[in-house]
Amino acid sequence: MADGTARADEVLEPDPAPWAWLEAVHDRGLLERIRGGTLTLRERRGLGLPWSAELVERGRRAVGGSVAAARFAVEHGVGMNLGGGTHHAGRDFARGYCLFNDVAVALRVLRSEGLAERALVVDCDVHQGDGTADLLGGDPAAFTVSLHGARNYPFQRIPSDLDVDLASGTGDEAYLEALSAALDDALPRAEADIGFFLAGADPWEGDRLGRLALTKAGLRARDELVLDRLLGSGARVCVVLAGGYAEDVRDTVDINAATAAAVARRLC
Ligand SMILES: [Zn+2]
Repeated sequence: MADGTARADEVLEPDPAPWAWLEAVHDRGLLERIRGGTLTLRERRGLGLPWSAELVERGRRAVGGSVAAARFAVEHGVGMNLGGGTHHAGRDFARGYCLFNDVAVALRVLRSEGLAERALVVDCDVHQGDGTADLLGGDPAAFTVSLHGARNYPFQRIPSDLDVDLASGTGDEAYLEALSAALDDALPRAEADIGFFLAGADPWEGDRLGRLALTKAGLRARDELVLDRLLGSGARVCVVLAGGYAEDVRDTVDINAATAAAVARRLC
């Protein structure tokens, strides 16, 4: 709003996703343990965040936001959730700061409402999208692409339809080349009605967990490339934030705000 990207009435607070939506995607036992705060010690360690009722509420609202953004995208071409992208949550696991897989839930809701069928997930968070691969890997109408640091979390992977491993220190030029090639491969295979773009801020050179070396200009070019290619293919596009771990949170905000501005420019 401060940058003039959106008016106050264009930024909405999402409702929590109903448990029934989550049950359509995730294992019931896992959801019961999340809901009741009875995750096992191993699960709590894997999640990496202390359990609280507020954490669960936040997770459900993040999913609600991605569903709302996806519905908005179907109607208006693009939509964005200022959250979501929790791609390490799989059918029966919740790890890496991710409770629920918002993209898989949003796709399920769009399909149940007859708003979309075929999907392409372009995951540009610096970490591999193992949870999304787990949930959508066997889905013939969903294609998953993940571009990520080769030597980074998660260390035991679940393969995406297309995984692009990038060497530590990869900079703008090599990244954008790899991304463009991945889109060349994925777009015709996906024939997507809806694209989900995980616009992670963590490939940035200053990120504490990233290990890649993209500049802010490089990340802006990435956003433009993904949005243009997805929209050019005829897909609607739902953008979600995913990770960002800059030393100074203002840098992460800066990167996320630039993504939001790129989305907003495509609404006019
Ligand atoms: Zn990440």
